Amino acid sequence: MSDAMATPPHESPEFTNASEFTVTITFTVAGGARRQTAERRARKTAARLADAATRISGVVEVSARGGVSYDRKPSWPSPIYFSAANSGFAAPTAPQRMSRYVAPEHEQALQSLAAANAAFRERQRDDEQRRRAVGCSNAQRAPYGLQPNGCACAYCRPGEHALDAMVHDDAGPNRWRTYRCLCGVAVSTPGGRCVAHRGVELILLAGDPADLAQLDFAALER
Ligand SMILES: [Zn+2]
Ligand SMILES: [Zn+2]
Repeated sequence: MSDAMATPPHESPEFTNASEFTVTITFTVAGGARRQTAERRARKTAARLADAATRISGVVEVSARGGVSYDRKPSWPSPIYFSAANSGFAAPTAPQRMSRYVAPEHEQALQSLAAANAAFRERQRDDEQRRRAVGCSNAQRAPYGLQPNGCACAYCRPGEHALDAMVHDDAGPNRWRTYRCLCGVAVSTPGGRCVAHRGVELILLAGDPADLAQLDFAALER
């Protein structure tokens, strides 16, 4: 497997170590016979500067804002629309010109990051939900990977649940073992539930510890 396959684009050093930089360039253009000529030329110049930035090696994203300024302070800065731009907003008067350039590999990393964040949030939501179903006192914190105190549920203490039940035993109840409801209360059979959690199922999510998967007694019987 190559490194490119092993590392998601948003975890590559090109992306994680990327640096944003803003430069303020102030220039003055000569006026024309008509009042608007200078400003139009100035906007074209700004667009060419933005276009030029996209052609520089290593530049993966460009956007620009500018406007008529006084003493180097633009009074009403607005997006510069340039021809190399491929995303962002389209110019109101020239839709083929857009406001932001993103290199394909950078775009891929941004999408990869967005997908990873969405997956993380979804898992967090699912984890909160399954914890709430068994009355987990850590439902709000969703601290998977930690061993928080104060809760005996299977999601907080998968290792202890697995050990108590000795899931490697032969199938069927063993009177020397302690079987626990997902909430931690002792019950008489593997995969059993206390009165409060009758019908509540073990929910497994991607990235769960192996011990938790072993508590899936229903799956063992299948
Ligand atoms: Zn818990
Ligand atoms: Zn229970």
